[in-house]
Amino acid sequence: MRYLFEIFFAVSLLISISIAAQAKSENILIIYHLGNDDTVYQSFESNLIEQLNAKLDDPAIFVEHLDLKRFGSSEYTNAMRRLILEKYTDINLDVILFNTAQAASVFDFDHLVLANSHKFILERLFSSTEPSSPLIHNIPLYPRYDVLVESAGELTKRSKIFVLTAVNTTQQEKNILAQLGNTKVDVEFLPFINTAQTINLLSRLDQSTPLIIPPTFAEGVNSVNNPTQTLKRISRIANQPIFVPYDSLIVDNVVGGYVLSSAASAAFISDQIRLVTNGYLPETNSANIHNYVFNFRALNLQRLPINKLPEGHIILDKPASIFDLFLQELLYIVFVLSILSGVVIFMLYSNRLLRVKQEQLASSQASLKRFNERMDVATNATRIGIWEYDLQTSGLYWDAAMHVHHGIEENRFNNKLSNWLDLLNVQDKVQLEALVNECVQTGASWSLRYTVSIKGSTTYLTCNVTSVKDANNNVIRLVGTVLDVTESELHQQRLQEQRFKAEQATKAKSEFLANMSHEIRTPMNGVIGAADLLAGTSLSEKQSQYANMIKSSAGGLLHILNDILDLSKIESGKLHIETSPFDLKMLVQQTMSTFTLEIARKKLKFKLHHPNYIPDVVKSDALRIKQVLFNLIGNAIKFTEKGCIYLALVYDASNADSDQGTLKFTVTDTGIGISSDDHERIFSSFEQVNFNKQFIAQGTGLGLSISKKLAQLMGGDLSVKSIVDKGSAFTLSVPVTVIDKIHLSANLVTKVDKPDLKNKNILVVDDNEINQTIVGEMLLDCGADVQYANNGAEAVDMHKADRPYIILMDLLMPIMDGIEATRVIREYEVAHKIPRTTIVALTAHALKGYEDNCREAGMDDYLTKPVNRHELYAVCRP
Ligand code: ADP
Repeated sequence: MRYLFEIFFAVSLLISISIAAQAKSENILIIYHLGNDDTVYQSFESNLIEQLNAKLDDPAIFVEHLDLKRFGSSEYTNAMRRLILEKYTDINLDVILFNTAQAASVFDFDHLVLANSHKFILERLFSSTEPSSPLIHNIPLYPRYDVLVESAGELTKRSKIFVLTAVNTTQQEKNILAQLGNTKVDVEFLPFINTAQTINLLSRLDQSTPLIIPPTFAEGVNSVNNPTQTLKRISRIANQPIFVPYDSLIVDNVVGGYVLSSAASAAFISDQIRLVTNGYLPETNSANIHNYVFNFRALNLQRLPINKLPEGHIILDKPASIFDLFLQELLYIVFVLSILSGVVIFMLYSNRLLRVKQEQLASSQASLKRFNERMDVATNATRIGIWEYDLQTSGLYWDAAMHVHHGIEENRFNNKLSNWLDLLNVQDKVQLEALVNECVQTGASWSLRYTVSIKGSTTYLTCNVTSVKDANNNVIRLVGTVLDVTESELHQQRLQEQRFKAEQATKAKSEFLANMSHEIRTPMNGVIGAADLLAGTSLSEKQSQYANMIKSSAGGLLHILNDILDLSKIESGKLHIETSPFDLKMLVQQTMSTFTLEIARKKLKFKLHHPNYIPDVVKSDALRIKQVLFNLIGNAIKFTEKGCIYLALVYDASNADSDQGTLKFTVTDTGIGISSDDHERIFSSFEQVNFNKQFIAQGTGLGLSISKKLAQLMGGDLSVKSIVDKGSAFTLSVPVTVIDKIHLSANLVTKVDKPDLKNKNILVVDDNEINQTIVGEMLLDCGADVQYANNGAEAVDMHKADRPYIILMDLLMPIMDGIEATRVIREYEVAHKIPRTTIVALTAHALKGYEDNCREAGMDDYLTKPVNRHELYAVCRP
């Protein structure tokens, strides 16, 4: 037997030598101690060789096995040692690796074969012997029982753990306990006698307490067991979750745990070997060789949650998911599906969009239809015709109303512009064509009124157009309307006719009034003037009384006449307000003095008030102010039997620096008063509110109406405050401009006085002898040399002969009227280069237009009959 071994070793030695002779790099010898845990060691060996080949440059690896358990006698051990040493006598071994301390202990490191090589001893049993030489490297390959126990307790949520150890292997227990240290988990060691007994024991213990099974144990005394086989059997039967310290022990229903990884430890050792063979020191810290490794099947069996496994774990035999198996196909399917769903979504969306658009279209069509219906109703009701002219097709569209408006049936209209133009008269045709062309060119809108003749009667039409442009601002269509305006046109024409007639009537009325006033004033002039002259002669008392009666009646008549004339002038808008500067105080004085006699006769008092500042000279219409004041004071006297008449005068400046202000004249009486109901009525024409016969007889009811209108024409107003039986107060307010006294011109109405006309030759031209006498007497009174002419022709001759200082010219005269005579005289003066004689018109025509005619003919001034002495003197003043 011994010889047999020796021959076997000799042969294997020879084979090894021949291999080593070819080796170029490191020679590595691995000496294995084969124990009970063969699976653990075998897994490690295969991993190590793989790693060495990977990490070293083509190493020569020799492997020797020492089965110390099976052939444990010293004789066998010696034989094995001797054979190995001899086998490697001629090989220069760089590294010798002993996979257990036990294997290393067989050899004497001082032996020639071993002396110079690096010796790696894998420490598995927590021995901490210090290496005796720098060539000896102890590499700890301990399982981490502490982490294993802690993590197993945590995963199973148990605070107690069983650890199975072989009977009498107290050293193993000690080793394990040494690692557990402060572990919180309660550890109970179970003795392993044999598999059957162990399973029996476990069945009696708590089924949920995890069980840790280390690799080395014996099956009974002196018997050798295979730990992997044992583990398989126990794990199949026992209910406890089984945890192990080496990854190679994760078999059958073993859960796994924090294990020493054979692959990782092989890699680590290979790294160390590479370091030392390259002249470096090895690392002592064998980190990263432990790992959490679990068996998928066992985890499921024990219902341990995969998602609660510690971080960085590895799961063995996990059935590949469909994702792992068909990831690419799945991705492809997902891709195709997403494209398809995209297409479907797009189709659905577009379908929805289409539906929405269709709905919108339907609703637009419906509203368009409704709009068209409304348009039809509107166009029918308003009879508006609509037309459209398309520039691209030159087609003219007309709606039904257009055909009606133009009196042409639809089937007779050829939808051409020329057809439309042919229906118009020449002038309208030219205009419409021009406007259409203009709109086509410029896009400008227009409106045209034209007529068409339908069955002999004229229809008036109004055509409007607007242009429609494209995106480039080019006119592409003209759209327009045509409205039949015949009715309104005819109405307009009727109105115009009526207005014309009314104007004619007013003119006729005005002319009638003017003529009447002329006709009445002329004899009135005579009556008043004659009465005046008569009163100046020596008369008996009775005669003088009659003469005065004539004077006062004629005066009253003239007053009424003037009122009617004024009113008609105001109503026809022909009364003009003439503003000029006048002396305010003088105006007041003169006005008041006119009433002195009447006041005295009625035994009344007349007082003037002007409490604050009154301007001296103002600009306004003095004549009209006087007229209103005359009326107000006259009424006050008329309607007051006892007491007092006050004239108060107030000036309100618009502001401190302004020359504009308002004059307020208030005439207050203590008379019969006016009831508040009548306050408005009294300002209407011909209104009298005191039905006392005594008063009605005294008036016409026109005074206040004229006064109010005059006040308003001057920009002011006339108002009343009155209490029946207490009295009345009428206030005339007039806007005025304050003038500096220096600028007061000589033509102030109030400044006339008797002029000195001595040696002045004055020609009075009038066909009425009485009028001649009256005016002549007034002039003779001033010492003038007066001559008389009976018509214009006589006047022209006398002008030629005597060249008078002033000619007072009547207008309406036989043979040659005043206007004509003036023209002839002016022409003569120019032709003979002689100085201009002043010619003053003297007329009963009180209307404004006559004055203009007179001035145009060359007259210098204008006096109205009956001639007022003051006015006459004013114009004759040298
Ligand atoms: P008449 O010419 O009749 O006076 P007016 O228009 O001047 O016309 O006045 C109209 C009416 O207003 C008068 O008839 C009278 O009834 C009333 N009236 C005018 N002024 C006064 C007044 N101071 N006191 C009382 N009544 C007055």
